[in-house]
Parts: sequence; structure tokens; C-alpha cells
Amino acid sequence: MERQFPRLEVNLPHLRENMEKIVTNCGQCGIQVCGVIKGCSGLPEVAELFRQAGCAELGSSRIEQIIACREAGIPGPYLLLRIPMISELEDVVQWCDTSLQSDLTVLDALEAACCRLDQTHRVIVMVDLGDLREGFWNRDEMVNACVYVEKNLPHVHLAGVGVNLGCYGSIQPTSDKMNSLLTIAHHVEARIGRQLEIVSGGASSSYTLVHWGSMPQGINHLRIGETALNARDLQIDWGIRNMGLHMDGFVLKGEVLEVRTKPSYPVGQIAIDAFGRRPTYVDRGNRKRCIVGFGRADVGDLERLMPHDPGVTVLGGSSDHCILDIEDCPRNLKAGDIMSFTLSYSNMLYATGRPDVALKFIKT
Ligand SMILES: *Cc1c(COP(=O)(O)O)cnc(C)c1O
Repeated sequence: MERQFPRLEVNLPHLRENMEKIVTNCGQCGIQVCGVIKGCSGLPEVAELFRQAGCAELGSSRIEQIIACREAGIPGPYLLLRIPMISELEDVVQWCDTSLQSDLTVLDALEAACCRLDQTHRVIVMVDLGDLREGFWNRDEMVNACVYVEKNLPHVHLAGVGVNLGCYGSIQPTSDKMNSLLTIAHHVEARIGRQLEIVSGGASSSYTLVHWGSMPQGINHLRIGETALNARDLQIDWGIRNMGLHMDGFVLKGEVLEVRTKPSYPVGQIAIDAFGRRPTYVDRGNRKRCIVGFGRADVGDLERLMPHDPGVTVLGGSSDHCILDIEDCPRNLKAGDIMSFTLSYSNMLYATGRPDVALKFIKT
């Protein structure tokens, strides 16, 4: 029997419209878009539509997703977003056109891997402008590393420089940050005596500068996933209202297993839950609730799901159960009914990677 629920419905036309809008707006600023597919676990169907929507290349942090897309026949070029492990460099050279880099030991090993395979590979060297994830911290060291690649690593082509913001350190991309990156790019160009092809200004959060018209000229590359796939960060969390991007690209449908009125406060001595946590419970008296047949194993944080039915809140759950308060829901829910949820980025990330969540692609 084919699994019906939980089922993730992927609205391909909405995802395509989102990416087309982003590509058009970026294009007007002279920016090429790398379509980032890691948020949906590298689904080839999404990779394909990103390319059709005008993305100049496709990117993922996971080389396995890049290999799977190539094997599915989705044409590249492909950019590896997570700075690679030395142990995966031969795959990087074989399967990726370009990678982000931030460590001279790795760059030397990359040159050696290229030599062994008799191939060349393009790199974007990363600088850290405050977000404290990957990248050179010292600006001179950054420029020297770029010059080193250019002069000493004949099989590694220095395609450009880049930055990542708004990930670990939650640092907002600003035109000041972009100008710092441009200054570094100009220093590198002066030292190597040629123009860099790529100055990569970041991820979805840097798209805000395109939207507001404050992206400095010279930034010519962004790596964008979330804003096309989920579109919640900027439109909901940042509160930017006039972007016009669909937020229902990924909708999860689950089946109701049980409906019952129960106390809202657990009965007995409270210890720890299934995940070793000590949650707090609010006593709201007896409330009507239901259980839906998916759990943390499928979507991560259940509390980040957004139920489509009005008057419904997610109470929590466990690895395989999602518990909802439905006391104020006008729908008379019963076992076997189907409930729909819009996903957050992390929900989408988990759900797309689960073999026991059915996938349905909506094509028109
Ligand atoms: C994930 C990632 C991106 C894309 O981020 P989104 O927020 O999904 O747009 C870009 N660059 C790097 C280095 C990444 O790891």
C-alpha cells in the first residue's frame, strides 16, 4: 500500500514564481543568482525549476545532493556551499564546478586532488565580516590567501571572493558590509592584476539590499534558497511586507489519529519528556485535543508548524505524534480527517529528507 500521510505537497508553480521574481530583481542590480537547494534536501524537481527560473547555477552545502541532482540529469554548474572536508575533495573536484573555501590547508589539498584527477576547479574564497562562521578573519591574510591561490595553485582557479552573513552570528547584511567585501575584492584585483569574476554578497538575508535598492554596485552574485523556498524569514520574521513571494511552497498534510477532551496539565509527578527535556505546561482545564500522525522525527520542532485550521495550536508531541489543541477550532474534527500545515525552514529541511513522508508535486 502506498503511503498517503504524512504527505508533503510541493507547489512547483509557486516556487517557480518566487525564484523568477528574485532572479529578475537581482538581474536589475547586475547580480547572478545561485539557487540553493539544501533547504529542501536537494530535491531534483526543485533544482530543475530553479534553473528554468533563471538561476545561473545551483548550490548545496551537501555534496551528496549535488551528485544526486547530476545523476538525475539536472545540468549545472554546481557550487558547493559548505567549505569542504579534505576527505571529500576528490568528489568536490569530480562533481562540483566551484566551491567556497576558507583554509589554506584545504586549498593545498584541493590542488593535490586536482592533480591526481588531472582536472581544474574554481573557488570563491570567503571572508568573515562578523557572522563568525566560515571565512578569513584577518583582511591581509584573506588577500594573501587569494594571491596564493592565483600564483601557487595552478589547478585551482580563483573565481572570486564571498561572505556569509545572518547565519551563526545573526549579523544583518548592510551596504557597509558589502562595501567591506568590495574593498577586499579590489585589493585582491590590484595584487593579481585582473578582475575577479565573482563577488558573492551572501544568502537570502542579503536579498533585502536588492529589495530596498541599497545593494552597492559590484556585488554580482547571491546564493539564495530560503527566500524562494519558504519566503518566511524576510516576509514574516523581518516583517518586510511588499515582497510578493508565496509562502505555501511546502504544505504538510497529516491524518488525525485520536480526538478527545483531556486535562491540559499532565496528571502525576512531572519528570522529563521523550527528548530529555522538562517542558512547562499551562493548566487551562479540560480541552479538546487531537493527535496527528507525524512527529519530531518528521519535522523537527513541532511548535514551528503553522496549522491552516483557525483556532488550532500545536501543543507539542514526541518523535511520531503531534498533539494539537482544537477546543476553539470550528471544524468538527474526527479520526481520519486531514489537517494541513505550513512549514518553517527547519520543518521543510527535515520533512523533505524523510523517506516515510510521501511527496506530491503540484505541477499546475
Ligand atoms: C545555506 C547557505 C546559503 C543559502 O542560504 P538561504 O538562507 O537558504 O538563502 C548561502 N550560502 C551559504 C554558504 C550557505 O551555507
